[in-house]
Amino acid sequence: MSRLLVVPIGDIEFNILNSLAQSLKHNFKKAVIVEMPEPEPSYAYDIKRQQYSSSMILKRLKSESSDGDLVLGVTSVDLFVPKLTFVFGEAEISGKVALISIARLQPGFYGLISNKQLLEERIRKEAIHELGHVLGLNHCHNNKCVMFFSNSVTDTDIKSDSYCESCNRSIKIKSLL
Ligand SMILES: [Zn+2]
Ligand SMILES: [Zn+2]
Repeated sequence: MSRLLVVPIGDIEFNILNSLAQSLKHNFKKAVIVEMPEPEPSYAYDIKRQQYSSSMILKRLKSESSDGDLVLGVTSVDLFVPKLTFVFGEAEISGKVALISIARLQPGFYGLISNKQLLEERIRKEAIHELGHVLGLNHCHNNKCVMFFSNSVTDTDIKSDSYCESCNRSIKIKSLL
């Protein structure tokens, strides 16, 4: 059975990674391993936007990954794709790599006081969302489903941390193909 490797990129508290790893293990019934942290991804920095290219980081994660393992990068830096102001994450659909950023999941980003429980909940939802893409899911119209596309942390806070019935069914079907 494939393993899920969590790769910290930049400075992220160990207990945040550890609690994410525990939830993912429970959710995906896979061995989850937190890898040694990688430095901030200067190779992906865009000086004009002062953000990091999520696609470049994803590509790097894929090139470093070994056969059979799924990889989830968790980064402290703010991510973008060319057409959007920012993204919470990106993934290879039906592939093996996913990436999330915790930058805009932190209440402090919006000038609010820190709230570790809320932060961990948001991280868990965005991780399960991106891994859903890896499992072949697209976005879902149900705003309570974890596959709903988050435009803001409000969307993330409204959605649950699980796949709706229809998304769950489609994961099951895909796993039989
Ligand atoms: Zn998505
Ligand atoms: Zn759904």
